[in-house]
Amino acid sequence: MRYKRSLPLLVQQLEGLIIIMQYVSFVLLFYPAAYQPGEACEETGTSTDTLILCRACGHELAAGVDIHFVPSRLALSSRNDTLVGGRRVNVQLFENPHGHQFEVITFRKADVTQHWPADKHFSWFPGFSWTVATCPRCRTHLGWAFQPSDWPDTITKTRFEESTHTFLAFITHRLLTEDFASSLLMTPKSFMS
Ligand SMILES: [Zn+2]
Repeated sequence: MRYKRSLPLLVQQLEGLIIIMQYVSFVLLFYPAAYQPGEACEETGTSTDTLILCRACGHELAAGVDIHFVPSRLALSSRNDTLVGGRRVNVQLFENPHGHQFEVITFRKADVTQHWPADKHFSWFPGFSWTVATCPRCRTHLGWAFQPSDWPDTITKTRFEESTHTFLAFITHRLLTEDFASSLLMTPKSFMS
């Protein structure tokens, strides 16, 4: 009878141990990567081909080389971050008319669904109108696409993609980098039988 009562306790203790081991593995995996010095300062770093994924579904949206800094005087703040494979990326903070703040990274191009007509009002980038940009697979709102405000409100996807005057701004926490995603799938050796 004692055995019956102590079994759940043993299972609980084992679960606790596994959680601690997972935490230790997580720290070991990520701590060295987070503090690696080196090419981080270079725009032309070695990891520019890192893929940028939709955090909700893993759809490939863009590559690291598609990141393109478009500074805006309307940004509440701007900072450098090392979000993509050790490469420095500019992150800008904006606020919409409802008081919601968004940290965004700007891209030259990306595989998204755009929702024309474009809107000229409340643009975070003066001289550009915007459309909402969603994930083509799971439809999560990823950010916004910008086109010159003297263009027609509705254009073709091809015209948007072929122009060098268009860009996109993605909300940082709706994205995932490929290297981070694959590190989540790693199985620490201690768990292998
Ligand atoms: Zn998605």
